[in-house]
Amino acid sequence: MYNPKSLKAEEFIDHQEILDTLKYADENKDNLELVDSLLEKAKNLKGLSHREASVLLACEDEDRIQRMFDLAEQIKKDFYGNRIVMFAPLYLSNYCVNGCVYCPYHAKNKHICRKKLTQDEIRREVTALQDMGHKRLAIEAGEDPVNNPIEYILESIKTIYSIKHKNGAIRRVNVNIAATTVENYRKLKEAGIGTYILFQETYHKESYEKLHPTGPKHNYAYHTEAMDRAMEGGIDDVGLGVLFGLELYRYEFAGLLMHAEHLEAVHGVGPHTISVPRIKRADDIDPDVFDNGISDEIFAKLCALIRICVPYTGMIISTRENAKVRDKVIRLGVSQISGGSRTSVGGYADEGEEENSEQFDVSDQRTLDQVVNWLMTKGYIPSFCTACYRAGRTGDRFMALCKSGQIQNCCQPNALLTLKEYLIDYASPETKKIGEELIANELNNIPNEKVKAKCIELLDKIEHGDRDFKF
Ligand code: SAM
Repeated sequence: MYNPKSLKAEEFIDHQEILDTLKYADENKDNLELVDSLLEKAKNLKGLSHREASVLLACEDEDRIQRMFDLAEQIKKDFYGNRIVMFAPLYLSNYCVNGCVYCPYHAKNKHICRKKLTQDEIRREVTALQDMGHKRLAIEAGEDPVNNPIEYILESIKTIYSIKHKNGAIRRVNVNIAATTVENYRKLKEAGIGTYILFQETYHKESYEKLHPTGPKHNYAYHTEAMDRAMEGGIDDVGLGVLFGLELYRYEFAGLLMHAEHLEAVHGVGPHTISVPRIKRADDIDPDVFDNGISDEIFAKLCALIRICVPYTGMIISTRENAKVRDKVIRLGVSQISGGSRTSVGGYADEGEEENSEQFDVSDQRTLDQVVNWLMTKGYIPSFCTACYRAGRTGDRFMALCKSGQIQNCCQPNALLTLKEYLIDYASPETKKIGEELIANELNNIPNEKVKAKCIELLDKIEHGDRDFKF
């Protein structure tokens, strides 16, 4: 029986409820009166339920789809402004005991080069990432209790935070590792992680079990209930995601929204972020063998609807998407993107070296400087801000800031301060020029005059060598 408050996976992601939702959506997709009323309701910024959201996803009316795109853009502007937070993934180890059929790290892959970074190698990687200008990482690892035990992950986090190279620093480490115990989540929390990210891959239980035939990840309930354990362990920023292409996207979308509703119902706070990865070609993986690949148009619609239906969540687009697709969807409510990414173990320090430890082909091959430059020419502010979680504004406290409308007096100056650091320490002359003009203009978008004056003062201090200010 469907129950969003239940702690049992099969009750908060109830298969029958999803089937009923899809039926309801099919029956109502041409009901333009209902569609219009939902679009109207979404303007209140309270989000939409999985049933309502599924009607919008099913609707094929061109004019309404355009209105969904426009509304997503408007909501993003109203709440987050035009800032885009930058991050990079850091692959620690590709040893893995699971059998995920879409991932080249699956245990049966005997020819992929298996690598696990030593702490010294992590230092080299982090130094290379700092030299690019990154301040925020998402660490990634396969699941392997012998090679990648939690102690290894914790030690690696400590190493990453300890490295201070020139003016560089990694100020926020998000973690994307397999589902684990409450005790381990508590340890991750104590290690000072930002968001705990875990992709559901698919919410369809039967498909999930087929796609994860062997290893601990086979257990659907253990995987699906991981966010509840993470929250029990004290982590209150969790990141959801579906690997689009594995199952029917409409099924996944309903499941994703039900998961967000469940977190809100049980913990009082929804997902901090939602990621929208699509399956990519990789070592022994051919994405075409999966039947449910989605077009760029559907992908854009999914992005827009996530923004409309879960208005306070951060939305992440990785370099799995090429520059053209990122250019198309960036305006639809995306709030975080990666730049200059390497998906191989050791890929930052060993740039250009021949090896095959990559998890998937990176489609957007631009450097971080090129991505920053592109964002600014499109009118966005690339932000390297990590202030919220360092000031204790996580979970419901972050959401409260969002909802209070004070974000422009807090996130806007923080974005400008961290962009200024980037421009001085890492940017090319052309990027620097565009960035300085952008900062001068964007100062005018800080509503509170005192905050604005303080921001100008701090920008000047950064110019003179000081670093790491935050509101
Ligand atoms: N091993 C951890 C786990 O099982 O959750 C997480 C780390 S894994 C490196 C990160 C994510 O990459 C997976 O959750 C999956 O969604 C995604 N991924 C795996 N194979 C992929 C592929 N061929 N193309 C795109 N994304 C892929």
